[in-house]
Amino acid sequence: MHQLKQYWVAEALEKDLGDPTQPESVMSFKSVMELDEREEFPEKDVEWLYNWNLHHYHIPVEYGGELKSYEEFVAFVRVLSRRDLTTSITFSTLFWSGLVWMAGTHEQKQKLAKFIKDKHGAMCLAYSERAHGSDLVGSDVQATKVPGGYLLNGEKWPINRATISGISVVLAKTDDSGGARSLSLFVVDKSEIDPAGYSNLPKIKTLGIRGSDMSGIRFDNCFVPEEMRLGQEGAGLELGLKGFHLTRTLCAAFSLGSADTALRTVLKFALGRKLYGKTVFDIPHPRTTLVEAFLDILVCDCVTIAGARSFHVAPEQSSVSSIFVKYFVPTAVEKVVQNLSVILGARFYLREGHDEGIFQKVVRDNAIISVFDGSTVVNLHALILQLRQMAKYRAKRNAATYEKLRSRLESRFSLEAPLPPCERAKFELFSRGCDDVLQGLEISLEHLYGLKTDASVDAEVLQKLITLTSTVLEELDAQDEFLASSGFEYGHDQSPESFELAKKYCTLHAAAACVHMWVYNRKILGGFFAKGEWLAICLNRLLMTFRPSSGIIPSIYIENVAQELLKLDRENKMFSIVPLQLAQAQSPEEKTHAASELQLQA
Ligand SMILES: Cc1cc2nc3c(=O)[nH]c(=O)nc-3n(C[C@H](O)[C@H](O)[C@H](O)COP(=O)(O)OP(=O)(O)OC[C@H]3O[C@@H](n4cnc5c(N)ncnc54)[C@H](O)[C@@H]3O)c2cc1C
Repeated sequence: MHQLKQYWVAEALEKDLGDPTQPESVMSFKSVMELDEREEFPEKDVEWLYNWNLHHYHIPVEYGGELKSYEEFVAFVRVLSRRDLTTSITFSTLFWSGLVWMAGTHEQKQKLAKFIKDKHGAMCLAYSERAHGSDLVGSDVQATKVPGGYLLNGEKWPINRATISGISVVLAKTDDSGGARSLSLFVVDKSEIDPAGYSNLPKIKTLGIRGSDMSGIRFDNCFVPEEMRLGQEGAGLELGLKGFHLTRTLCAAFSLGSADTALRTVLKFALGRKLYGKTVFDIPHPRTTLVEAFLDILVCDCVTIAGARSFHVAPEQSSVSSIFVKYFVPTAVEKVVQNLSVILGARFYLREGHDEGIFQKVVRDNAIISVFDGSTVVNLHALILQLRQMAKYRAKRNAATYEKLRSRLESRFSLEAPLPPCERAKFELFSRGCDDVLQGLEISLEHLYGLKTDASVDAEVLQKLITLTSTVLEELDAQDEFLASSGFEYGHDQSPESFELAKKYCTLHAAAACVHMWVYNRKILGGFFAKGEWLAICLNRLLMTFRPSSGIIPSIYIENVAQELLKLDRENKMFSIVPLQLAQAQSPEEKTHAASELQLQA
């Protein structure tokens, strides 16, 4: 078991699912590819996960479940996602229960916990409409007030798990005048409404996650009792957007799972295929592409883990922390997958053969992650609206702010620090200018300078880290100065230039997350992590987006990363800053029921 307890669930799940390259494993590449070819819903796999009690980890402990930390959550979703995004995304619609844990009454919470736990209940989120997409305020679905409840009318589409789920969380208009307070949320339990009042729309054919229950739902004068409304009437948009804070961060786990499979599959190909008397891995260009893919995953790890932990440490910053994760990670992983595809050459285009064609499934499935739960542009737009305030807040930091920042940074980044429970009621639509990660960069820079007298740190690597971190800070200062003096536009008509600024801010944020992660975990994540060469290359790569390469990275650093990549592959460990043990091929007798095993160890 990993020394960090929050990774035990992921490791146990991984062990019980088994090695995905072995056809007899649960969700093996062979079986998920067969389902995908048939576009078939992964019913048995989903039921296996319920029988494993994975749904308990969607219910907070105070309501009888096992959900303790979102860092733990992200880790097990990643393990699932490395096998099959169809099942992982299907199962994770349960994540919408977060809306009820955030805003439900005690009765609603108890009822939902029972539905999920005792009935193996599934749910879906019904926000989107054919005509409106990202424009949630434009929704046409109406909830008309009648005695004791509401009459729902209209259609939601495209909705994942709309047909095969017992509960639909529906965003509907309760006030015709429009505007931010015109929408309300309803937790519609299909077992408690008249079946004549709703119908499911036909399955939609999708590019990826082909076996998903992708459809829609239509309501025709469907009576829903008042008790099914979530929160106050008119609070739907606000709650709906706060719900995205949770799920946007979760989406990164889908991406990271895909990235692991993409890299592992292509690495296996590169090590096995011989050309010109050597392996493809020995040819400098593909070797570098593979190393860079690994490094990009490490950066995404730092961003994701920090984002997941921030729900517990700084829930009031969730509006920005979730954007950083949702913009950066899926976009970075899309590039990783695209770059890796080049190494497969002709085999990239062939759906059979190499590892059952799982890479090609990753390409198709992975493409949806940056679209749903607020597309890349929608996230950047939401960040643009907060950037100026963050720059102003940063300019006003003082000794007292720094002390609080120091303490939050340590809780957020030190993976050994216990996390407090997540106070979802503290989620805010705007972070009021706070962004600990970039606003605390000077604190980690100070730590770096402090390490100059530490004999355990390589002086050359440290100097490079100081130089690169100082460059990140310079870029941030310049950007903040520009923002402070620029005009501010409300609304949707933001300039393309402001989107570029937001992207740059996310890149600087990713760099800062990596620095903090190293500073606070140098001694606990193993020798490769501690040495910091990976960090120097990652910072250099991130900065290269807007500064030409300074030639600061010696080629030996890159070679050392290549050796670590090979080592993790040989030892069958996750490509991650937390390289947890992946499943080995095992006999059925070795398989345990993980939930009971974990309870014994806890
Ligand atoms: C596989 C799949 C699963 C889905 N699952 C669900 C689900 O479970 N529940 C659910 O409610 N929905 C779901 N959706 C819907 C998904 O969330 C929507 O597709 C998404 O909200 C975007 O809407 P749209 O594609 O209609 O794009 P539109 O909103 O029509 O936008 C079109 C384009 O306009 C531009 N644009 C939009 N907004 C902005 C902005 N603010 N600033 C700048 N440019 C902008 C962008 O270029 C954008 O791509 C799913 C979709 C798919 C494909």
